[in-house]
Amino acid sequence: MTEKKVRTRFAPSPTGSMHIGNLRTAFYAYALSKHEGGDFILRIEDTDKKREVEGGVQEIKNILTIFGINWDEYYLQSERLDLYKVAAEKLVKDGHAFYCQCEAKNAKQEGFSSQLRDSCRDKNFTSGAIKLKVPENEIIKFRDFVLGEEIEWKTEIVFDATLLKSDKFPTYHLAVVVDDHATSVSHVLRGHDWLPSTPIHLLVYKYLDFKIPQIGHLTDILDPDGGKLSKRKGSTSVTGLLEEGYLPEALFNFVILAGWAPKDNRELFSLEDFVNVFDASGFQKSNPIFNRDKLDWFNGQYIRKTNDSELTTRILKFYKEKYPEDLIEKIVPLIKDRITRLSDFDTLAGFFFKESEVDKNLLGDNFDKHLHAALETLLTIKDFNNSQMNDKLLETVKNNNFKTGDFFMDLRIAITGKKMTPPINESLVILGKEETLKRIKQVLKSTN
Ligand code: GLU
Repeated sequence: MTEKKVRTRFAPSPTGSMHIGNLRTAFYAYALSKHEGGDFILRIEDTDKKREVEGGVQEIKNILTIFGINWDEYYLQSERLDLYKVAAEKLVKDGHAFYCQCEAKNAKQEGFSSQLRDSCRDKNFTSGAIKLKVPENEIIKFRDFVLGEEIEWKTEIVFDATLLKSDKFPTYHLAVVVDDHATSVSHVLRGHDWLPSTPIHLLVYKYLDFKIPQIGHLTDILDPDGGKLSKRKGSTSVTGLLEEGYLPEALFNFVILAGWAPKDNRELFSLEDFVNVFDASGFQKSNPIFNRDKLDWFNGQYIRKTNDSELTTRILKFYKEKYPEDLIEKIVPLIKDRITRLSDFDTLAGFFFKESEVDKNLLGDNFDKHLHAALETLLTIKDFNNSQMNDKLLETVKNNNFKTGDFFMDLRIAITGKKMTPPINESLVILGKEETLKRIKQVLKSTN
């Protein structure tokens, strides 16, 4: 490993389902290193055992794998407790941290001091939790490589943060610094939420005599209604969005463009394309808005780009093999241009698998005549193939002086229960003669 190698990490905590904001951080960190032929590290920050959710680590790995994000190295913080202990004790020894025996998480919580100083900081305890001894009257600053600006804090507003808890687990503040240093991370990319923690980290870097990596804070993805992204109009968790029928390729494409822009106006990017063109100067400074219409647009694009047999497999898996593959395969060409999400398949093509309730109010005034004529015609067709069907039905329309649109609409409703469906003649071919006739007869019988 040379000193200059770009090494980034994605450092999620397994405390809940992964949000698209986290996923975006992973994509950016991955592209930042891979564009330079560097390394991408997955580090699980599992030091808050109380908040950890079962299966959380596996979910993180599964999600990254779904998106084709492979990691070169993997670390689990709970397996590295010795490292953090050594660092924390060194800080105490050097006078930059102190043992604390009060139960408060920090001084502010206990209300000890308006200056955020902990009441234990000068007590010289020799055991307990370890907290940072924040210096007085200093300015801490760094240049944020995403925001492109220098940010500074006065130490008066930085609190004596806990570094090592009494259960010997580190807090995020200590572990993040120790690990980024130990694994030679060159660029830290994280969400904007973490900006207030950065002065604490900068002090820890300084006191441990560690080189400070490049640090950048990403914009927040905002809700269209303003403020933080909320779940009101659908999921914002990665798993939830995949379950809503968004393709990983579309989600990827949507997410990378929420906060980063290419030099040209190109819109469609695969992971490989993104890595190739990635440039940190493309990070946007204003907060992007979660635009679901745009996500739908991307999803439609990727559905159309997926070849039929691949789309069949995706639909089969999406519905957990509820529908037979050979039938999905036949239906796919009819719906491919008409669906936005995989979940639309059910709405549009459900009638192939299950007879729909026919609402008689949807049928036109002449439905009885239309359906009788259609039945008669279809009975005469031996080989249910599309060109025959089309010609024969059109002939029937003409011979009876029916209105073409009205005739086919009644037929469509009788077969599918709906006004919006894939092309009806092709659908009849797939349904087959027996089922088609059965459905028409049933409507005629029930409306008699
Ligand atoms: N564990 C933090 C998170 O879940 C990591 C923040 C960082 O990357 O420093 O976002």
